Amino acid sequence: MRIATLGIHHETNTFSARPVTLETFQSSGLQTYGVQRGQQCIEMHSGASTSLSGYIRGAEQLGFELVPLIFAATDPAGTISVDAFESLSSEGIAMLREQGPFDGVLLNQMGAAVSEAHRDLDGEFARRVREAVGPGVPIVMTLDLHANVSHMMAEQTDGIVIYRTNPHMDAVERALDACELVTRMARENWRPAKWLEMPPMVIGIFQHDTSDEPMRSVIRSLENVLEQPGIVSASVGQGYPWGDVQELGFAAYALHEDSSEQARVAAQSIALAAWNLRSELYRPDGPDPAEAVRIALEESLSRAPGSGPIVLLDVGDNIGAGSSGDSTFLLAQALEQGAKSWLQTIRDTEAVAECVKAGVGSHVELTVGGKTDSLHGEPVRVTGRVRVISDGRFEDSGGVHAGWRYFDGGTTVGLETDAGPTVVLVSTRVGNMSREQFYSIGYRPENFDIVVAKGVVSPRPAYGSIASRMISVNTPGATSGDMSTFDYQHRRRPLFPFEQDAVYEP
Ligand SMILES: [Zn+2]
Repeated sequence: MRIATLGIHHETNTFSARPVTLETFQSSGLQTYGVQRGQQCIEMHSGASTSLSGYIRGAEQLGFELVPLIFAATDPAGTISVDAFESLSSEGIAMLREQGPFDGVLLNQMGAAVSEAHRDLDGEFARRVREAVGPGVPIVMTLDLHANVSHMMAEQTDGIVIYRTNPHMDAVERALDACELVTRMARENWRPAKWLEMPPMVIGIFQHDTSDEPMRSVIRSLENVLEQPGIVSASVGQGYPWGDVQELGFAAYALHEDSSEQARVAAQSIALAAWNLRSELYRPDGPDPAEAVRIALEESLSRAPGSGPIVLLDVGDNIGAGSSGDSTFLLAQALEQGAKSWLQTIRDTEAVAECVKAGVGSHVELTVGGKTDSLHGEPVRVTGRVRVISDGRFEDSGGVHAGWRYFDGGTTVGLETDAGPTVVLVSTRVGNMSREQFYSIGYRPENFDIVVAKGVVSPRPAYGSIASRMISVNTPGATSGDMSTFDYQHRRRPLFPFEQDAVYEP
């Protein structure tokens, strides 16, 4: 049995000023080698814990031949250019036609990709794949939990399987579910009955952690559905808040052996559980930068020795959700309030170049951060010593959000400011989801009083275990947790909480 896999994997922040071109895909901070083709996919994913890693394991366990075609992923950022999507899509579709026939397709999507021409890129790509393989070949798609799931995605595929955890630690398990589904469909010429239910609501980013209430209750209702006889699979899409798309928001999806009616009832029961919690599922809160730094400084004095750093989660500059990675709101407060033992990254290729030119050991005066747009604070002037320069590559096989393994931060500089804070200047928008990012250049976050992690949930697997406390800071930015700060033009209406009187009647 030959199963093809391909994917264009992107979380598109339509409010981000950074366009995503083919070059962006080719130099990704999220994975070494950018776009991967054929055996390169196997090389980069067999030792990781991504969806593609799960497909590889599925092929071994279930005894099918996995034919990797193309996998293009890049860090979340702005809208994908027409050229980038057309080029990657036509290459993938051509491979599908030339290397076929296939008994099935595993479509490796993120679920929140937007191109200039297709706001529902994932649905459009599924449509093209369907067109290429025809109606008789099963297509099963895996998605990130942040997917904004659309009816086109559901219609053009025979099954969708979505991560169930956030932080995403179950990419491999869900990929194995997808492998079982696609092989059974191919073997038995069977197709499950499917249902996608979209109650008119969004889930706020502060409420995305699936191990915390109220999201835990939503996942519990999903797990209850999975226990029901005849249910083959069920998933929810938490939704990706910064995608201005029609399908923005929460969705519940179920597959039943043979009954659309039972699939509908199952999906609706999950949707209703979420709907009943809608007010609790959207609460943008947390201290502002000044307050957060004040709390962190105060607590760092009173905490027990060796209890670990206070980790400030920079919600508004969530690199893993498409922000610029160069926000300075927290650093500016650190300097103003006199923080000394402080560690954070800032993406700034100009500052990196200045430091590289000056060389290791030299003393520099320069501005850092705040250079991408007007959303992430002003550039901050610092003086300090260039302590280390590296190529920015690091590896983490220890269980990282979504299972990535080989990271590429581009040229990276450890800058120790005269004022105290250590600023690690990076060149790509590599997220703060692995401590190896710092270990690889000689810094131990454990030894600092305060560490900034740009993100909300994705840094938790890396920092939760060493932090004495993690504080989600309500920083402004392209990924602000307050959705009322964005001007949505394309979203469905009504949609809670924008329209408080939205009604859902299954
Ligand atoms: Zn995600």
